[in-house]
This record gives sequence, C-alpha cells and structure tokens, in this order.
Amino acid sequence: MFPLRWCQLTHKVDLAIVGAGFGGSLMAMVAHKLGLSVVLLEQGSHPRMAIGESTTPLSNLLLERLSTNYDLPRLAPLAKWGSWQRAYPQISCGLKRGFTFFHQHGGPLLVAASPHDAIADTHWYRADVDHFLVQEAQSLGVDYLDRARIETQDFAEDGVTLAGVARDEAFRLHAGFLIDATGPRGFLHRALRLEESVLPGMPATESLYCHFTGVGRTETVGDIPPYPVDDAAVHHVFEGGWVWVLRFNNGITSAGVVATRAVAEELTLSEGEPSWQRLLERLPALQSQFENAVACQPFRYMPRVSFRSSAVVGQRWAMLPSAAGFVDPLLSTGFALTLMGIERLAVILQQEIGSADCRLKDYAEQTESDLLAASRLIGALYANMDNFDAFTAVSLLYFAAVSFSETAYRLGNPELVRGFLLHQHPEFGPGSRALLERAFALDGAVGLAGDVLRLIEPFNLGGFGEAERHNWYDVRAQDLLDAAPKLGVSQGEIVAMLDKSGFFASTAPSR
Ligand SMILES: Cc1cc2nc3c(=O)[nH]c(=O)nc-3n(C[C@H](O)[C@H](O)[C@H](O)COP(=O)(O)OP(=O)(O)OC[C@H]3O[C@@H](n4cnc5c(N)ncnc54)[C@H](O)[C@@H]3O)c2cc1C
Repeated sequence: MFPLRWCQLTHKVDLAIVGAGFGGSLMAMVAHKLGLSVVLLEQGSHPRMAIGESTTPLSNLLLERLSTNYDLPRLAPLAKWGSWQRAYPQISCGLKRGFTFFHQHGGPLLVAASPHDAIADTHWYRADVDHFLVQEAQSLGVDYLDRARIETQDFAEDGVTLAGVARDEAFRLHAGFLIDATGPRGFLHRALRLEESVLPGMPATESLYCHFTGVGRTETVGDIPPYPVDDAAVHHVFEGGWVWVLRFNNGITSAGVVATRAVAEELTLSEGEPSWQRLLERLPALQSQFENAVACQPFRYMPRVSFRSSAVVGQRWAMLPSAAGFVDPLLSTGFALTLMGIERLAVILQQEIGSADCRLKDYAEQTESDLLAASRLIGALYANMDNFDAFTAVSLLYFAAVSFSETAYRLGNPELVRGFLLHQHPEFGPGSRALLERAFALDGAVGLAGDVLRLIEPFNLGGFGEAERHNWYDVRAQDLLDAAPKLGVSQGEIVAMLDKSGFFASTAPSR
C-alpha cells in the first residue's frame, strides 16, 4: 500500500529516477546526499536476476570515489574482494583477479588486475547486489516504487509529470528532472520514440546466457599462471564470437555467448539451450568444463546486443550511459561508463536543475564520445577474432590505457586521464584511432603489434608486449616503479600509492 499522498495528490520531487538496477540506486543515493528529494521507480522487484556482472580496477576506483565524495561509506567495501568478504559475506560475488583469454587458435592471454586476492576485483551477483543497493537507497530516505508501470510522461519547462500504476495503485508525481536508468532500449528511448544510431565498427551481435551450477574449473598444466585462471573474467574467443565464464562464491557460474549475426544464425541462438549445447561441441575445453553443469533458470536470448540511442539528454531529462548505449560485454566497459555518468550527472545536479542545459550538452557529448571509443576498440577486436596476435595487440591498447588511467587517478593526477581509454589524449587518441582503423583492414594486422607497442610505450605501466612475458602479465611493483617518470611522479610517491591501495598487505578472507 502506498501512503495516501501517492494516490490522491500530485507528489512533488526534485528528481525521478526510472530503473533501479545498480545504476539507478547509486544515482538515487548520490542525489539524495546532494539534498535532493528523489523517487526511484522500478518496473520489477528485487531480488531479481540481472546480467552485467564483472567489475574492473577502473569501475571499482569509481565506486570508491562515489563512496568518499558523497559520504556513502557503506559502498566502499564493495570495491575490493577482501573488504567485501569481511563486511558483506551474505552478498554473493565472485573473485576477479584479472582477464583471462583463451583462443581457439592461440593464447592464452592473461592480464592480472591485482597482485593478490584482498584487493582484487569482483563479479557482482546482481540479484544480491542490486537488492542491497536499493535497500541502501531506501534507508537513506529515497522513495522507492517497485512493480511500477509508467503510463504517461509529460515534459514541460519546469519538469516532468509521470503517472502510472505501482503495485496495483495509481500514482502521479511531478519531478524537476528525470534520469533514465533503465538500460538499453529503455524507458525514454521508447517513450520518446527516439531513433537508434549506428555504433561505428561494431557488427550486429546476438547473445545467449544463463546461470549454472556444477561448472568445473579449468585444468592448468605446465607453468604457473599469474593467478588461478578461473578467478577472473574468462573469455573463450573464437571466430565470430566469444563466451564468458564468471564464477561466483555461491556455487553459481554465469556463462554466455555473444556472436556475430552470421555465427548466431549458424548456431540458431534463438533456440536457447540446444544451441548452447551446439556451441559447446565446437569448443572442447568448455565442453568438458560444462559436462556436469545444470542451468539454474531458462536461458535468456538477446536478439540485439549493441545499442546507441540518437539522444542522451533533453529538456529536463538525461539518460545514464547504460541507457544511452551499450557496445558489448567483451572488456567489461559497462560498469565503468555507468559510474562515470553518475559522477558527471552528480556535478550537474549540484547546480540549479533548471539551468542545466549547457552542462547537459557537455554530458551528452562525453557520454557519446566514450561510447564511440569503446565501440571502435571492441569492433576492432571482433574484426580480429580469427587472428590471436592481432587480437592481443588491439587488446593491449585497452589494458595500457585503463591501467595508466587508474594509476593516475590513484596518484591524485586526474589531469593525466584524457577521456575514457585516453581517447582525448593528444597523442594516444589519434594514434589509437589510426591503429584501430588499420585493424579493420584485410591486411591491417601486418606489423600492427609493433606499432601498438610503440604507441603505448609512454603509457605502458605493465610490461605489456615484453616478449619474455609470453602474454602472461602479473602485477609487479617494479613495473610501476620503473614507470614513475611516465606518470610524472617519484618512486617514493609510487610506493606510497601502492601502500595506500593495499598492494603490500595480502591477507584476504578465503574464497
Ligand atoms: C550480456 C551482457 C553482459 C554484460 N556484462 C558486463 C560485464 O561483465 N561488466 C560490465 O561492466 N558491464 C557488463 N554489461 C553491461 C551492464 O549490464 C550495464 O552496464 C549495467 O547493467 C548497467 O546498470 P544499470 O543499473 O544502469 O542498468 P540495468 O542493469 O539494465 O538495470 C535497469 C533497471 O531498470 C528497470 N527497468 C527497465 N525498464 C523500465 C521501465 N520502463 N520502468 C521502470 N524500470 C525499468 C529494469 O527492470 C532494471 O532493474 C553487460 C551487458 C550485457 C547485455
């Protein structure tokens, strides 16, 4: 039952957020801390399964920053495996020590993201995490309406009036501003009948995914890898697609495939489970891992994965980056982009909402340009899925850019970070665009690796591309110490930064 005020009067709030995934709930908490009255509307109810699970060093740093900057201390433990296990053992997650790539015709490529478990990244078991976050938002004072169906939205100069039904009760509210946090092809894209725009470089892709129990671990033989290869975002790459395998600490494993339309049609992904079995037959290593796997729920099929809306903002509204567009899960860029959008919108909301127009335009431009940078990069990876060496070379553009950005932020030098994936950096930006264009050409892979290494050299903090590492990159303090001049700091500052981030303190709760 709603309080009387929801049903009979037009309830007035500063901000309405539609969609209570993690993005909507975090945005609501931040806005509340800014002193705004906030209502959060969700079409479903928590807990519920959601996809998009794997975090990265950058997304965890952004989460930590939200926690500090907006006085949300209960969020901070979620930014690291160790603090998460201590603070919230009841909230399921997975241990992510890095990115593991197996390739049908090569590999593996292993890129560690943390030196030990305590400060490792995680995979979010979204049913638990999103539920926790929406409860946190409510406990702060955010009004939350679930099972909500918005039937009309009328935008005017002073805001938007929303009317609909939630839990079988009618509601009507007026908000000074609306944020759409409903994900791709979501609420405003449909309600305002916006067009879809093209994502340059990205082929059309489809996806099929599920949660499983009974998934075996990968057998490793020979040399000892920099981390247990399964405690990672595991990618099995093949021509025209890839499979993810993410293990949680509750016995459940998330797995799914994204494939180009041609491969998806060959496998008939729309058929669900039978096509998953057909896929496993093509990938023997995975097949043995899934021998005893049992699906926890019906398979979910996505006929279209990538998406870009033709508008990101309008009068009195804005979309979170996750509602404005999505490229592909391949490099786990979704969380970081969503969190960057929350930070940027928070700055805008700090000002008088009615005068936000020009800042919203900047927000839209940044959101778009970040999305396009991700699209060019991931598109180039798709174009080289049949060529492991070229695939690896392109991926190093990502790893060099994100590790440089994360380290610069941790050192308190944000001015060194010029856009997501450094795409606005005067040298790295145009240089990487030129290399990515080459990566699309038929013979573009020739000499690509050497040119990538030359471009990333001033940003390379991880020994990326060094022949003796054989594509196995652990995290070494020495690499960072050697790279201090690239970041314009002393070795002492690097040591202090590593110490502060828990690099040297390795005791972690068990998995
Ligand atoms: C297959 C796949 C795998 C992915 N893997 C990763 C990954 O590993 N790492 C990563 O960083 N990113 C990943 N992503 C991207 C990631 O899912 C998103 O970045 C993330 O979910 C965004 O969170 P959000 O809360 O903004 O939106 P969502 O998680 O999409 O949540 C939207 C919420 O809005 C609600 N909603 C929808 N429509 C309405 C409506 N009309 N009214 C009210 N409520 C509504 C939904 O019920 C939902 O609760 C993946 C995406 C896909 C498709």
